[in-house]
Amino acid sequence: MADLSNKRIITVATTGAWPTKADTPNVPIEPHEIAEEVYNCWKAGAAVAHIHCRGNDGKAAMIFEKFEETVRLIRSRKDCDVILNITTSGGVNLREEDRLRPFHELKPQMASYDCGTMNWAHTTIFENNPAFLERLAGMMNEVNVKPEIEVFDPGMIYNAGYYIKKGLLKTPAHFQFCMGVPGGIGATTRNLVFMKGTLEEVAPGSTWSAFGVGKGAMEILYATIAMGGHVRVGMEDNILYKKGQLADNNMEFVSRAKRCIEEFTCEVATPAEARQILGLA
Ligand code: ZN
Repeated sequence: MADLSNKRIITVATTGAWPTKADTPNVPIEPHEIAEEVYNCWKAGAAVAHIHCRGNDGKAAMIFEKFEETVRLIRSRKDCDVILNITTSGGVNLREEDRLRPFHELKPQMASYDCGTMNWAHTTIFENNPAFLERLAGMMNEVNVKPEIEVFDPGMIYNAGYYIKKGLLKTPAHFQFCMGVPGGIGATTRNLVFMKGTLEEVAPGSTWSAFGVGKGAMEILYATIAMGGHVRVGMEDNILYKKGQLADNNMEFVSRAKRCIEEFTCEVATPAEARQILGLA
């Protein structure tokens, strides 16, 4: 196998659950907008696309038909080999059945696995209770979809360790450190060092990626590259390209991440290389 140690995977999260057209007219909301943005982000260097869809009102929703259409449009671009990663949260307070259906039927190579429950942004509960997590892992194993284990604080890493021990989460696992969401761990380098150390203790041999929401975004991007991690960027996590300036599109974030990786004298992983790094078929 080629040496992949110098390769870094860029994941783009184009849409997420929160930004609306009122927040930024540049966020892709409709399936055709998301598919077009994913295609252009792939051209700019993204190997993985993390997909959310919205309801007809533009709000967070897990509507199967929207995912089906988005995935169909992306897959119809025959030259595009981007790795699809479908959300299993979609937002907060959504029905379990609706959260489970898109990945189970559409069979992307990856789907998110939010490894614990938290108080979300001082407003509500982001619920991922133990029964749901066991069911989610079981269904992902059944259709051979790799979990992207999203952790919002160190306790969720230990929670993942429990499911790894139980055999529900397979190893080597892949983690996403989601930092800077109010209610979760802050987006600082000190915290990133701690998260990485905790991961090495709890689930050695795992691959990992990170992003910071809000003002810690650039600090986490640079620190992650320096510490050997993969990166995630996009409007799910940040609508501002920099202070006071909305991003024109998601490609801007991908291009900047690519420049940072290359300036660090690493290389951006192609989707084929990312598949090898992540152990995907
Ligand atoms: Zn997401």
